[in-house]
Amino acid sequence: MNRIERDVIIVGAGPAGSVCAAYLAKAGVDVLLLDRDVFPRDKAGGDMVSESFSKHITQLEAADRLDRMSVFINRMLLVSGGGSEALIDYECYGTKRRELEVLLVDTACSWGAEFRPACRVIGLVRELGKVCGVRVLNGGVESELRAKIVIGADGAMSFTAKEAGLMREAPGAMSIGMTTYFEGVRLDRNVAIGQYSAYGTVFLDHQIAPGYLWILPAGDGGVLHGVCNVGMVVDYTDGSRKERRDLEARFADWLSRSTRGSAMLTGARQIAPWYKGKQTFVTQNMKKTADGLILIGDAASVMLPLRGDGLGAAANSARAAADTAWEAIKRDDYSDAFLSEFYRNHKLQMEEGELVDTLKTVNLIRESLRDPAGVNRTVEKIRLDKTLAERIF
Ligand SMILES: Cc1cc2nc3c(=O)[nH]c(=O)nc-3n(C[C@H](O)[C@H](O)[C@H](O)COP(=O)(O)OP(=O)(O)OC[C@H]3O[C@@H](n4cnc5c(N)ncnc54)[C@H](O)[C@@H]3O)c2cc1C
Repeated sequence: MNRIERDVIIVGAGPAGSVCAAYLAKAGVDVLLLDRDVFPRDKAGGDMVSESFSKHITQLEAADRLDRMSVFINRMLLVSGGGSEALIDYECYGTKRRELEVLLVDTACSWGAEFRPACRVIGLVRELGKVCGVRVLNGGVESELRAKIVIGADGAMSFTAKEAGLMREAPGAMSIGMTTYFEGVRLDRNVAIGQYSAYGTVFLDHQIAPGYLWILPAGDGGVLHGVCNVGMVVDYTDGSRKERRDLEARFADWLSRSTRGSAMLTGARQIAPWYKGKQTFVTQNMKKTADGLILIGDAASVMLPLRGDGLGAAANSARAAADTAWEAIKRDDYSDAFLSEFYRNHKLQMEEGELVDTLKTVNLIRESLRDPAGVNRTVEKIRLDKTLAERIF
């Protein structure tokens, strides 16, 4: 077996892992970023890139490239199954996920991180109970890689979290979804395109509740050729093959009932398969650290339900973990006690009290969406009260 020693090993080069690697490398830390996949690759994940995510790209000096590959979205049209509509201010980018993730890995490498693709983590290495490395499978060869700290950024079904005993079964704290691309989507030119940039459309429908669907102009040709990221997320029940298959039937059923949805997609051509995946939501008190280990992004369940901003939450946790790891290396203290205390003090989303209040509001809204009249009422309320929109989205 080969043995290699690093300061930090990051498992997973998705948005959380790459942003964390970039921050660490920028601070001069020796960091190795691993992913089981070879990039570029497609995967489930919408193209809405929030301001809370793009601010990290600015700090990592890659904002120009992000800007060039994106459509700027300045409003969202919320549409209920019963026909109520609310146009709210919401600024984000529409960026193809495949391209965004290449940009993030490139950014990490440009600051000095080493990226190793096609490298699947198959075990954690421990000494006296402390995580001190990973076992990987790379090109059919198994090896052991050692580090002072391991950061688990391997997504919603995190292997690292499971191996460390930190994964909690949390019913109601996960959703399942799918995304694809359509070309030739009819975008409503009267509302915002041209004078502004473009707007995205989010559909709330009681038969999808407490999930939602979206049509979002994205990347090159987003506005010009109506190239849109189209997707749907719904509550996760058992994650069975049947549940995953049923997603497409549920989408087709929604489309046959949605006047605005079918007006936008009639004549449009689906140009990619459906990519399916899961997302995890904030669960209070989920433990995110162990001796020698920190979890970030979906692996740490940091995303707020309904908000759709998994990228922003992932990058915030990545930043917090990078600061924590940097401090731990300086003090030569990799204990769970130190890591958890320092990581927690970098508030991941918001203050504890604010988080509890926001979750209460979001959960009330999620419940109200299960009833057709409730969906209409909610969209009406959002139309009349912009502060409500700001609190949720
Ligand atoms: C259908 C859908 C639509 C979404 N739409 C949006 C949206 O529009 N905007 C938004 O902000 N968020 C969206 N999200 C949420 C967002 O995609 C996630 O919150 C975000 O990708 C989390 O990033 P991450 O790096 O934590 O995890 P991931 O993006 O899941 O990355 C994990 C990485 O770890 C790698 N990996 C996994 N296991 C191993 C292993 N054993 N060894 C090595 N590597 C491994 C994977 O290959 C992957 O690259 C959506 C999610 C879904 C499912």
